Amino acid sequence: NETSFSSAFANFSSGEIFDQNSKRRSRLAVGEELKNHIMEIDPNECLAGEEDSFFVCDLGEVVRLYRNWKLKLPRVQPFYAIKCNNDSKVLTLLDKLGCNFDCASKGEIDKILKMGISPEKIVYANPCKSNSFIRYSKQVDVNLTTFDNFDELYKIKKLHPNCKLLLRIATNDQMAQCPLSIKFGSRNFETSVELMKLCKSLDLNLVGVAFHVGSGFSDLDSLRQAIKDSKELFVYAKSHLGIDMNILDIGGGFTLETFEESSSVANESLDENFPENLYPNLKIIAEPGRYMVSSAFTLACHIIARRGITNEKENTEKAVMLYLNDGLYGNLNCILYDHQKPVARILTRDGEFLYYKEYENSLTKRYPASIWGPTCDGLDCISEKTYLSHLLNVGDWMFFDNIGAYTSVASTSFNGFTQTASVKYVCSE
Ligand code: PLP
Repeated sequence: NETSFSSAFANFSSGEIFDQNSKRRSRLAVGEELKNHIMEIDPNECLAGEEDSFFVCDLGEVVRLYRNWKLKLPRVQPFYAIKCNNDSKVLTLLDKLGCNFDCASKGEIDKILKMGISPEKIVYANPCKSNSFIRYSKQVDVNLTTFDNFDELYKIKKLHPNCKLLLRIATNDQMAQCPLSIKFGSRNFETSVELMKLCKSLDLNLVGVAFHVGSGFSDLDSLRQAIKDSKELFVYAKSHLGIDMNILDIGGGFTLETFEESSSVANESLDENFPENLYPNLKIIAEPGRYMVSSAFTLACHIIARRGITNEKENTEKAVMLYLNDGLYGNLNCILYDHQKPVARILTRDGEFLYYKEYENSLTKRYPASIWGPTCDGLDCISEKTYLSHLLNVGDWMFFDNIGAYTSVASTSFNGFTQTASVKYVCSE
């Protein structure tokens, strides 16, 4: 509710937002919830599916992430990319915190509008839209979108002529976890100029430039370069076409792990290329996805089967094969689509829920294992080789943290496994 919301927010008046204490608070809250839920389930008695995998989401972590963004990138208004994780409570919270939204389809637009959020808070950030979706965006007053090709401009002229337009430019994103510029973005300055000229001759409302340096990017030079390239287009538009653009969209791709450096490079480059005194009316926006949710979610999975052990008492040095009730066709599809390498951690049934890493130093014995999903496909392998601190049994649980980005949104029901995992919520702030 509003009262607890504002008091949670008030905690962040100053200082570092992420510290050892915040991490501990989060782990305790999440661990407690995992424990409570798992203890309720008796694998010998439960109904089919009651022991399905589930997420725990720490909404307090989302608050910290958002607040950290505002602290470190004060000039940049985030439009959260809901393709990354469309959990309704997370979206509501981000809306309350003041975040806007990046939608890429009618479905995503509907999701935001049905929550009562204003269409003004949406950027329709997809440069290649179907005619019917463009008509729909006009109908529901979504009036800011991206484009990167000539046909798109003719479509927009016909179907949504007053829409505000951001020219998406390509970046050098080959080093990123998921490169995007192979598919989107005007390729060079000359093409961008031609596209801007067509906007002018069609009397379209060109308002700015957008780019994305690749999802999970690590090359800070590409961010610097993309801001510089954008600046050149702002200058050209004003000096040659008389168009005074006022929105710069620096896209997504940020991660919490590298945010210190990436936010500082963004600030430096923005101040150098778009100083506030020369661009007093400029709105700088971004489309972060994974940054806002990755560390806020933990996935708990149940061990449904095991191979490689001949009897119950065997204390083996051989690699065992563990089969979980979630995998590459379910919420761990991020291994395939998003090139993530989630680490399976252990949940013991005897009280404490410890992270595998915390065990590491005190390990006297390490058990080799491979970890598999539940489907009949050999591709469904979560980890070919890992080492565990305990020999796990059927009925034990494992969990994966940092698993909020590009997971549940792309899970399938292949083989008839239901993968709409439930989400339990805690708030560590
Ligand atoms: N904006 C656009 C246009 C995208 O395509 C994506 C991801 O594919 C994002 C934003 C979000 O990127 P990330 O989750 O890496 O921040």
